[in-house]
Amino acid sequence: MPGRARRSSPPQGGRPFTRPPSRAAPPELRELRIDPRRSLGQNFLTDEDVLARIAALTGGPTRRVLEVGAGYGALTAHLLKGGARVLAVEIDEALCAYVRQRFRDQPLRIACTDVLALSPTELLALGDMEPPYVMVGNLPYYITAPVIRHFLEADMPPKRMIVMVQKEVGERMAARPPRMSLLGVAVRAYAEARLAFVVQPHAFFPPPKVDSAVVVLELRRHPALPPDEETFFRVVRAGFSQPRKQLHNALNSRLWMPPGAAAGLLEDAGIDSMRRAGSLSIEEWARLTEAYERARPGWGSDDA
Ligand code: SAM
Repeated sequence: MPGRARRSSPPQGGRPFTRPPSRAAPPELRELRIDPRRSLGQNFLTDEDVLARIAALTGGPTRRVLEVGAGYGALTAHLLKGGARVLAVEIDEALCAYVRQRFRDQPLRIACTDVLALSPTELLALGDMEPPYVMVGNLPYYITAPVIRHFLEADMPPKRMIVMVQKEVGERMAARPPRMSLLGVAVRAYAEARLAFVVQPHAFFPPPKVDSAVVVLELRRHPALPPDEETFFRVVRAGFSQPRKQLHNALNSRLWMPPGAAAGLLEDAGIDSMRRAGSLSIEEWARLTEAYERARPGWGSDDA
């Protein structure tokens, strides 16, 4: 999901106005005289039931919530109502000011910044918040993957992530073998993923063109990765470079190795070389990476 708002008539200075906000806009946007800006993925969630369901998913082990892309505070209100302490991250200054004022007496901190400009550790410090925490976000679609990686790979990762993404992306994140993708492997290396529910376009203002999905990621205490993560992802990327090809062909064409060596690697890892990339589990990718690392010194030169 995306976000920056364009002012139609700045209440106290701000950006020049463009056109009056649509009558279909939620009252908060009409009050702010803000027109959602596509370039920042501002599809605001207006369905109260969906908002309540997302807020409920943050419950459990902790009530400290880092919300990415707070907008005008629709989800923030539900989180606060449920008793959470909230650190809201929002790039749009007008929306930051509005949310700060709207919840001024509540346990809320705002980081008015690009979420990718600071590490999660720095964001937590700004919000005076300590782990464990839950991350939640109705994410702008143009930064979905980088934001998810930003938190999965963090020094201080959340315990749980609840993200609204395009439905098709959510399905890929939560897929299991034989329907794995590069994104699915990258996510599952760090977390257990499940698609909680699908959200129709009419739950948003303005409605996006496609369905969305809420995905829950329970982060692993220890990522299911071999020690050399870089090599792991190099092997996985090679496998998925030609997802319709049998694995030995895909690996042979993308990793430097003597002709035909991929079949031996796969055998060493206990994987049938006729299988395709989407059918491998994280554990099998890890075994394949280990087999690759064992074989590589004997080949005399490194791959590109
Ligand atoms: N949470 C609100 C809701 O559900 O109605 C707003 C969701 S809207 C899809 C995405 C929000 O993310 C927008 O308010 C937008 O301004 C904000 N945003 C976009 N890019 C951002 C970034 N790089 N860092 C932080 N916030 C961002």
